[in-house]
Amino acid sequence: MLKMRKQQGYILLGILIIFLFMAGSKLGTSSVIASRNENNLINLKEVPILNYHKVDVLNHALSISSQEFEEQMEYLYKNGYTAITPDQLMSYLKYGKELPTKPILITFDDGYLDNYTNAYPIMKKYGFTATIFIVTNLVGSDPRFMTWDQVREMQQNGIVFGSHTVNHQSLTGLSNEQIMNELTQSREEIARQLGKSPKYFAYPTGTYNPEIEEMVRSVGYKAAFTINYGQVGADSDLYALERIPIFKGQKTFRSFFIRLNGAPILEGLGIY
Ligand SMILES: [Zn+2]
Repeated sequence: MLKMRKQQGYILLGILIIFLFMAGSKLGTSSVIASRNENNLINLKEVPILNYHKVDVLNHALSISSQEFEEQMEYLYKNGYTAITPDQLMSYLKYGKELPTKPILITFDDGYLDNYTNAYPIMKKYGFTATIFIVTNLVGSDPRFMTWDQVREMQQNGIVFGSHTVNHQSLTGLSNEQIMNELTQSREEIARQLGKSPKYFAYPTGTYNPEIEEMVRSVGYKAAFTINYGQVGADSDLYALERIPIFKGQKTFRSFFIRLNGAPILEGLGIY
């Protein structure tokens, strides 16, 4: 009798241990999921956004040569970077939706003709997409800039177009009415020419303030890009996204490499 009780006791103890083990592992799993959800947007890794202007042989402050541009694209390709779209970036920043392992957003400001003739063939070669912010009054009217046909061709091949206003004036120097015109008229013209409204905006000359950010948001843009130096992450303001400018230097490739790899460090030190 006593022996039987002892055996039953062992069985009960065994069942209890199995039950506790199962309950424990279940609790463990759910607490891991809960903490991941909570921290999803806090733990976002930083994403670099490159900012180019011209890709040509001019000894211009805003230009780099085709050869330098190709070296940079080759570097990104060989180092496993994947060029992403601003839509991918937004899904990541807003909802934590996963990005490729080494994401990079390549942007161009102003819409120069050389973006089509020089940069575009190189980007195609490496399978990279890019986002180009165009100034609607300059497209097709100034020979230094792209035509709408060129813009449409690039759009059909995966290049994204955003607004860089109608006239490329610093918005902080304009009246509210003028700012609204710059924001809405460029948006409408791009929609007319490309069949869809641009979702993204870049501040001409990089100038903005909280009131301008609110106007950009109110007319329907999903995000806006500055020329503030840095990478974007959990702390980034969607209407003041940081970028890494790639301009001409003594050794452009070296400065490209340092800017790309040193951005968080330089940002922390307050060096721009
Ligand atoms: Zn510009």
